[in-house]
Amino acid sequence: MALLKIAGLGNPILRKVSKRVKLSTIKSKEFQKFLDDLVETMRDGMGVGISSPQVYKSVRVIAIENVNNKRYPEKQEFPLQVIINPEFVFVGKEIEEDWEGCLSVDLKGKVARFMKIKVKGVDRNGKVINEVATGFKARVIQHEVDHLDGIVFLDRMLDFATLTKLPEFEKYWNPPSSR
Ligand code: ZN
Repeated sequence: MALLKIAGLGNPILRKVSKRVKLSTIKSKEFQKFLDDLVETMRDGMGVGISSPQVYKSVRVIAIENVNNKRYPEKQEFPLQVIINPEFVFVGKEIEEDWEGCLSVDLKGKVARFMKIKVKGVDRNGKVINEVATGFKARVIQHEVDHLDGIVFLDRMLDFATLTKLPEFEKYWNPPSSR
């Protein structure tokens, strides 16, 4: 496995619409290795999600995981999941505003997201995924799928007043007492 380079905000690849993955390529050794590397890169950056364009590959793949992640101790946990060609629809109208960060953007800010979504796609074995995701997991999926359409969380912010650098986030917004 290998760590992949992460594209930073301003890199044009983050603004491209990624291409769908052909199902016939999923089982190739090369693609499977890419998925391993994508997951390793997410874990190395202590992210709870990553999308393919963030590692310079403009295809529709995301990985998500929140297990024992020190950055999100109070958040809902969910196991590792690779979703190829992910799509979702909103379920209900409940919206929540909460903090988001991004491996490509060294800032945090509050973003409004739908609380419940129905997700479709295929996993790394080509098996169909069809499930409902809620809360933090639903937020992470919406964030990562946005990347596949060239959208970053800053575009979704309704108010930049919460936009915060990472050291300032730890200092002012994330003290243990506020959790
Ligand atoms: Zn991101």
